Amino acid sequence: MALTGLDIYKKLPKENCKECGVPTCLAFAMKVAAGQEGLDKCPRLDEAAMDDLSDASAPPQRLIKIGADANTIEIGQETVLYRHDEKFHHPTAVAMQLSDANEDLPGACEAFKKLVFHRVGEDIKPEMIALVNDSGSAETFAAAAGIVNDALGVPMVLISSDVSALSAAATGPLAGLRPVLSYTGAPGDDGLAELAENAKAPLCVSGSLDDVAAATEALAKAGAADLMISPGAVGIDEGLTFVTKARRAALKKTFRPLGYPALVTACGEDRIAAALDGLTYVCKYAGVLVTDAWEPHLLVPILAARQNIYTDPQKPVQVEPRIYEVGEVTDDSPLLVTTNFSLSYYSVESEVEASRVPCRILAVDTEGTSVLTAWAADKFNPETIAEALTAAGVEETLSHHKVVIPGHVAVLSAQLADDSGWEVLVGPREAAGLGAYLKNDWKAA
Ligand code: SF4
Repeated sequence: MALTGLDIYKKLPKENCKECGVPTCLAFAMKVAAGQEGLDKCPRLDEAAMDDLSDASAPPQRLIKIGADANTIEIGQETVLYRHDEKFHHPTAVAMQLSDANEDLPGACEAFKKLVFHRVGEDIKPEMIALVNDSGSAETFAAAAGIVNDALGVPMVLISSDVSALSAAATGPLAGLRPVLSYTGAPGDDGLAELAENAKAPLCVSGSLDDVAAATEALAKAGAADLMISPGAVGIDEGLTFVTKARRAALKKTFRPLGYPALVTACGEDRIAAALDGLTYVCKYAGVLVTDAWEPHLLVPILAARQNIYTDPQKPVQVEPRIYEVGEVTDDSPLLVTTNFSLSYYSVESEVEASRVPCRILAVDTEGTSVLTAWAADKFNPETIAEALTAAGVEETLSHHKVVIPGHVAVLSAQLADDSGWEVLVGPREAAGLGAYLKNDWKAA
């Protein structure tokens, strides 16, 4: 039975030393009980207490580390079914599927390097390669893994129904690099525990929920700790049922045999369906997503969904409230005002970039809320904008004394002019109108 925070607290050293990164032992105990921290974060816990607590206080879903050193990716240790209950902790790792029978692996690696996209101030990209043993040869598989690793050095998933092929790649060119060993044969193969032990890498077993649970239980008893589960190559209905039931069983029933992150596959001839499956799995509940969406227009929605889903729903995504310079600004350049909600700021920034009219943008601190939300909540008003103008000290850098506010809050212009002493111009209602406004309407003099 799961332990409560108080049960755990009773066994802790109660020294409140903060070495675990949490202010008090009680707070740490609560986090352990909620599955948000592991007992290993408390260096002062003695062995006896660790033994007493470790089984019952283990997170309901295991944290799995893939890759090595700076390229390590963490997945799993999720604590909630629904993002709004808290947040999702470890973003789905996106692995681009590649066949070991591909005759141009170096070319595919070059294509992988180009899959980097910029969205709301961040680079979004897949971070893994999933190499499939289509050749049926352990030798070819290991050689292909070596080529990909030499070219990219990114964490990998090795997918094969042949234990010897997985072993050849994982203990050969990928030795010490902790790839995911995704075994697609029938669970129960005798060589799996030995493989996991020799390769010192996470092992993923595929099949029905019952088969997978039986396999992980047997593997755990045999000493394999870093496990993953997969529904295998099934349709989205079956796959979604698998990951949802597994997550529910792990988190709500503390059912250890399914308390591992899931590896799912979204590939196929129907390209749009494959991309939609990938997007669905990012939302529910992929630890690793293997996709063949090499086309940017199919991959970007998956990456964008991940970027959105793995933010903290209680903390709006925001930029630092300050002045930003876009392009080679001069003292004649326009000064635009918006809020520090990321999407608002980057919408304005990208339209300014596209217009090629260098501008200064003042992002006013509205606690990360958008223009209309902030206005409705009285966080984006003449007083806050005037204060932000003064605090930014932008007045001395300009030859003019004009500020452009979003058209949606035109109603603020008269009061803002009175409060700030600036000439207030009303810009377009939507950022999309900025290009035309800057070229046709803006005048410094
Ligand atoms: S490291 Fe251990 S003793 Fe120190 S505050 Fe955390 S739980 Fe308490």
